Amino acid sequence: MVAEKSNEQTNKEDKLDVLKSTQIVIHKALERLGYPEEVYELLKEPLRMLTVKIPVRMDDGSVKIFTGYRAQHNDSVGPTKGGIRFHPNVTEKEVKALSIWMSLKCGIVDLPYGGGKGGIVCDPREMSFRELERLSRGYVRAISQIVGPTKDIPAPDVFTNSQIMAWMMDEYSRIDEFNSPGFITGKPLVLGGSHGRESATAKGVTICIHEAAKKCGIELQGAKVVVQGFGNAGSYLAKFMHDAGAVVVGISDAYGGLYDPKGLDIDYLLDRRDSFGTVTKLFNNTITNKELLELECDILVPAAIENQITEENAHNIRAKIVVEAANGPTTIQGTQILTERGILLVPDVLASAGGVTVSYFEWVQNNQGYYWTEEEVEEKLEKVMVKSFNTVYETSQNRRVDMRLAAYMVGTRKMAEASRFRGWI
Ligand code: GLU
Repeated sequence: MVAEKSNEQTNKEDKLDVLKSTQIVIHKALERLGYPEEVYELLKEPLRMLTVKIPVRMDDGSVKIFTGYRAQHNDSVGPTKGGIRFHPNVTEKEVKALSIWMSLKCGIVDLPYGGGKGGIVCDPREMSFRELERLSRGYVRAISQIVGPTKDIPAPDVFTNSQIMAWMMDEYSRIDEFNSPGFITGKPLVLGGSHGRESATAKGVTICIHEAAKKCGIELQGAKVVVQGFGNAGSYLAKFMHDAGAVVVGISDAYGGLYDPKGLDIDYLLDRRDSFGTVTKLFNNTITNKELLELECDILVPAAIENQITEENAHNIRAKIVVEAANGPTTIQGTQILTERGILLVPDVLASAGGVTVSYFEWVQNNQGYYWTEEEVEEKLEKVMVKSFNTVYETSQNRRVDMRLAAYMVGTRKMAEASRFRGWI
């Protein structure tokens, strides 16, 4: 017999339901902006959600059927944009929430895009290079009708990289019978990628940390930083913080964390990490991810996965500033507790928007066929992030709301206006 779920269990699951939590904050933001209920009805779910089955011939000769998704949240402002993640825990709900977050990011940094997101349920850590290539190409064939340089432009996300983008671009170009670099961003430089794209998310987070530290009167030189996650965002971020004179006292990957109150040797760890960001397996003296989050520090950066700071541990966070480099690392209850405790929380939809910003630069360069230097990209990114941080910060001060609600207010406005001008609402 299947046991029924207790109320307490359902309640807990609801709190960790990223789609529901996003909808709650979107509703609040639209209410504060004075929009009628139909705007919420339009924005609470993606306009389009495609589920596909991808048969892949594995190296041992068997055929495995993978499930993939592509969600397009809102295309009133322009084509949808957002990454593709390869992860065993990908779900339809998560991809939907991630597509909404992409819309918010694009709204906050003012890009001519709406949000989109894709995901495939798989574990790339257990697949060969050739299996990954076949899966990547199969996914593009399965979603090709709804994507394209002026429709929906994918990019990297958790466990996908420039090689996967290259295969996907090649497959799309074959289907389209045309070289289509603007179909996808995060490509290798030789295939029309942009300087600075790989480190863009971490650069954006770094700029937010600088701005947040100024607001809180914290000197970055000598500040103690803890970074959860050592993937694309976390590893570059640890390096940038180290280079800025901060002391990175803790880092972690999916298997555990490393802690040294005197500061970790970041260059050594970067050198030893594998392509999935795993490094702690090389050490005996590890701590858990839970312990890592509660370490004494000035700045805490969750740069891994969802639902890491919740009502269960938010009271124990000892940082002065929390800057979210991951998507959705703090629950609504976690946000409330941190805010009440006077900890400045810089939300994901603002802090991690540097990635999509440089993706936009990459797409612009592809469309015009003229490429920029690394300095040009960095200068433009810096301007965008500083302005966006301050817009959200001022909104939060003026409207007396936390930074997450302020970011949602800034992020939904353009989409709501564009939908209205188009006559949708
Ligand atoms: N996957 C990244 C994000 O969550 C980047 C998306 C993009 O570059 O389009 O923001």
